[in-house]
Amino acid sequence: PPLYKQRYQFIKDLVGKYKPKKVADLGCADCTLLWMLKFCSCIEVLAGLDICASVMKEKMHRLAPLPVDYLQPAERSLTVTLHHGSVAHKDPCMLGFDLVTCIELIEHLEELELNKFPEVVFGFMAPSMVVISTPNSEFNPLLPGVKLFRHPDHKFEWNRVQFQSWALEIARRYDYSVEFTGVGHPPTGMENVGFCTQIGVFGRKYPRPSESAQPEKPTEAVYKTVFKAVY
Ligand code: SAM
Repeated sequence: PPLYKQRYQFIKDLVGKYKPKKVADLGCADCTLLWMLKFCSCIEVLAGLDICASVMKEKMHRLAPLPVDYLQPAERSLTVTLHHGSVAHKDPCMLGFDLVTCIELIEHLEELELNKFPEVVFGFMAPSMVVISTPNSEFNPLLPGVKLFRHPDHKFEWNRVQFQSWALEIARRYDYSVEFTGVGHPPTGMENVGFCTQIGVFGRKYPRPSESAQPEKPTEAVYKTVFKAVY
């Protein structure tokens, strides 16, 4: 299967294993991953965030309930919400999630946004699990036609040492563990370059903070809700 499907499948497998109830996808683009996750029966809240409202709206009708969803209501309730905003900004609508996914997002962030990203995701949102995927630049020589970066909008592409030292420093600072894996196996004989897509899976090491225990968290909403469906 194509690489993007392998990345989505990786998340689906993780959801099947850990059964999170509230999942947020940051940089959700055309909401394909959210659409796949809406069929996972453990999930009760799905949220998407993107800085580009038009790409989010392209196919968001797929997230709306179908007649069959009303005729045969599921046991569980499901709320799907799409927000327009940036991962560089904190918004209370992102609090209380079990899993936050950032698939091929960080390499699109400007330096200032990337600097704010850890505090927003790990300090403020502080979900029990975070998954971050990004290209592994060591794989690039194996990709035909790739000169500097895989995509003209990429601000950087990191090798494994660069990604892992960035991730380990975040884990240390925000009290998470992190494990590294990936999708897209290198061809036989080239195993030393690693996966085509590198993935960090972070787990929060401390228990869920109770809402009353975090009065310092701002409550002012800055994201704009562009879609909401309740099943
Ligand atoms: N996660 C999707 C996937 O794997 O198919 C889309 C990845 S796409 C390469 C990167 C997305 O991140 C784009 O939709 C872009 O608009 C979004 N993005 C870029 N900067 C962002 C920011 N500061 N906050 C939120 N989303 C951002």
